[in-house]
Amino acid sequence: MNNLDFFYQQPSPYSLGAAEKQQVLHSHLAALDAHHQQHCELYRRIASSQTAAGWFDQQVFLPVRLFKEYELKSVAQQDVFKVLTSSGTTSQQVSRIALDRETAAHQSKVLVKIMQHYLGVQRLPMLIIDHPSVVKDRLSFSARGAGILGLSTFGRDHTYALDDDMQINLERVQAFIAKHQGKPVFIFGFTFMVWQYFFQVLQQSGQQLDLAGSVLVHSGGWKKLIDIAVDNSVFKQVAFATCGIQRVHNFYGMVEQVGSIFVECSHGYLHAPDYADIDIVDARTMQKLPDGQQGLIAVSSVLPSSYPGHRLLTEDLGTVFGEDNCPCGLNGKYFHVHGRLPKAEVRGCSDTHAAEVKP
Ligand SMILES: [Zn+2]
Repeated sequence: MNNLDFFYQQPSPYSLGAAEKQQVLHSHLAALDAHHQQHCELYRRIASSQTAAGWFDQQVFLPVRLFKEYELKSVAQQDVFKVLTSSGTTSQQVSRIALDRETAAHQSKVLVKIMQHYLGVQRLPMLIIDHPSVVKDRLSFSARGAGILGLSTFGRDHTYALDDDMQINLERVQAFIAKHQGKPVFIFGFTFMVWQYFFQVLQQSGQQLDLAGSVLVHSGGWKKLIDIAVDNSVFKQVAFATCGIQRVHNFYGMVEQVGSIFVECSHGYLHAPDYADIDIVDARTMQKLPDGQQGLIAVSSVLPSSYPGHRLLTEDLGTVFGEDNCPCGLNGKYFHVHGRLPKAEVRGCSDTHAAEVKP
């Protein structure tokens, strides 16, 4: 149903200029609006309620929270191939995203296109800044474990930098470095883990590792780091000082829109790929804000056809700085994420949604 050949034929995931992107994205998203209206009864009801849905530019953006409250899917149960879940401490905080084979295939394909843009087409030796049990222990199998497994397909010779007690296994890391000396390696971890259990430990003990020439990809939110006053530039300074790492790419993504992730460019901005877009909205008036103003992040993606996640209103705050004119040369809107909207300001509350949209 969801043909993305036009996007796949582009030479890079950042090819489309604003005018063309606007047109192509608009027609794909409009088709997805109609598709989900037709195949998801609950989506249709939410979309017709002015208060349950986020509305701007005459389009419906589902608050991401609704995926924690409702099972929103646009395929028959027998076509559900995989259910993605977000991290969360209680079942009420967990999003459940139903994928059919088509949506799952688009997610993997787009993730490959985007990651290869930064890592190249060859699988690089991969150093994972976490402990091996994070993907082994099925009982505590987490979004973190799923993220590591997802990204592992872009690496080879997977080596975990930490032991189960969260200490760096220096012997193992040094052996990995020696084995791949002079060759690019791919380092991946969740932002807080990389900071707390790797960079900070190295910094405090005065140890240095030779990971120059490697590419560090990290994700998972800045909230914990902002609490301890670490911003992106400090993070990068310490990456360089302790390990010689010069290429650092944070990425912004969510379980509700896996695949079309927003990766940080060489100039420190997150970029919208051809497959996705970002808008900044005033949380109170639901009006779209101009570039340079901070507001609520709304994300669009052409990938989700098995669940109505193609236009989402997040609870994150961000600022868009421009489109197609980032000094890095990539097309697409470029932006920063500042953190979460304070709880009290989240538009509406779950009780309201539950009361208005009886499943
Ligand atoms: Zn850029």
